[in-house]
Amino acid sequence: MVESKGAESASAPGVKRIVVIGGGVVGTATACYLQRDGHAVTLMEPDEPGNQTSFGNLGGISPASVAPIAMPGMLRDVPKMLMDPEGPLVIRAARLPFVLPWLLQFIRAGREDRVREIARALYAVNGPTFEAYAPLLKDAGVEHLFHRSGQLSLYPTRDSYEKDRLTVALKEATGHKVEILNQDEIRQLDPAFSPHYDVGVFIPDNGHCKNPFGLVQALAKMFVQKGGTILKRDATGFEMAGPRFKGVRTAEGLVAGDAVVVAAGVWSKKLVRTLGYKVPLESLRGYHVTIPDPGVMPRVMCIPADAKFAITPMEMGLRMGGTVEIAGLDAPPNYARARMLLKIGQKVIPGLKIENYTEWMGHRPAHPDSLPVIGAAPRHDGVYFAFGHAQQGLLGAAQTGKALAELIGGREVSMDLKQFSVDRF
Ligand SMILES: Cc1cc2nc3c(=O)[nH]c(=O)nc-3n(C[C@H](O)[C@H](O)[C@H](O)COP(=O)(O)OP(=O)(O)OC[C@H]3O[C@@H](n4cnc5c(N)ncnc54)[C@H](O)[C@@H]3O)c2cc1C
Repeated sequence: MVESKGAESASAPGVKRIVVIGGGVVGTATACYLQRDGHAVTLMEPDEPGNQTSFGNLGGISPASVAPIAMPGMLRDVPKMLMDPEGPLVIRAARLPFVLPWLLQFIRAGREDRVREIARALYAVNGPTFEAYAPLLKDAGVEHLFHRSGQLSLYPTRDSYEKDRLTVALKEATGHKVEILNQDEIRQLDPAFSPHYDVGVFIPDNGHCKNPFGLVQALAKMFVQKGGTILKRDATGFEMAGPRFKGVRTAEGLVAGDAVVVAAGVWSKKLVRTLGYKVPLESLRGYHVTIPDPGVMPRVMCIPADAKFAITPMEMGLRMGGTVEIAGLDAPPNYARARMLLKIGQKVIPGLKIENYTEWMGHRPAHPDSLPVIGAAPRHDGVYFAFGHAQQGLLGAAQTGKALAELIGGREVSMDLKQFSVDRF
């Protein structure tokens, strides 16, 4: 769909030649924001834009969802989860020795005081999501893809809700309205859901994207129409003159530029290592199934909190997905983890028809503290980072791009970037 045109040149004062590495939702939104500032931007992507992790997410656009993945008490629940092959967390034995240091940092990040700090930081990048996306959606003509129709978490019992009180408290602390619903109110809000849920937590300000891949494709198309370049290449490293960035190395030659943004999702780890930055970035693999004709279509996005997955009404059908599998980048997918969601989905949505569904696996790029790295490389000039958005990259992509454009343009940055520094590890 998207044509590659070759490298851009920039001659006007203040205009920079900027290479963005990675055409997922984060890189593409960042490229669009930089282009809005008049820079000559090249988006380097070996695949179709949006075809990796950004293809299959659950579309959640939830400014008030600020709970990190590591939460207090999780350590207590992990052994039980690991014993259950259909549980929300699986660690493949072969990966365990490699992931142990990451797991230790993950457990440390789950202390309640740290969780509250992380939630505040996540709100800085996720809170303004609708506002940050608005100009991009308008320019690309895809405002219809975003629905601010609310998001509902479902709890089977009062006890399970009480156990998750901190998650709810973190949502409330954002200042967004949080409505606690009983069984009847859940059914009135959306009769698609089973009457077996005792408590619902509804956030009217949250919403969802009806086609995450379509979103990236539309942004990439607009980027090219406005004169941006998409280069179908793999970045292999950086050409530096001392600490100063000169270009991106590829097998087909050097792509020269004044600045570079590394936004290659989970693959960023290898790239930034070539500059001496060691980041604990792990793939938290997730799965989805999409049913084109489910028979019953809920109106709002829903998260059955006991099973830790999400259900989203999308343009192409009903998508159910989530779960975490730690197995590294290269192990083959285990689609049984996607199919197990079908069974759980039928419990949440009685009458759900399971036919002709598609299965998918993707790599959430996750640091142990669930926070991305956003900002300037501390020991290199002209090098910027935008990766590691974990379970919330769709949500945070536009604000990430906006903040980086402000930083590169020498303007006041609309969020505090200190908490996203690569030096925090
Ligand atoms: C099951 C599941 C559900 C999810 N649900 C949600 C949700 O509801 N809401 C939400 O906000 N987030 C969600 N996420 C997370 C979200 O999908 C990710 O955080 C987001 O897609 C990450 O985007 P990215 O651009 O950083 O990475 P990617 O989309 O993976 O893009 C990185 C790109 O870099 C390219 N690349 C790699 N190496 C190189 C190289 N050497 N040179 C050039 N390019 C390179 C890749 O080809 C790829 O296209 C979910 C994820 C999963 C798995």
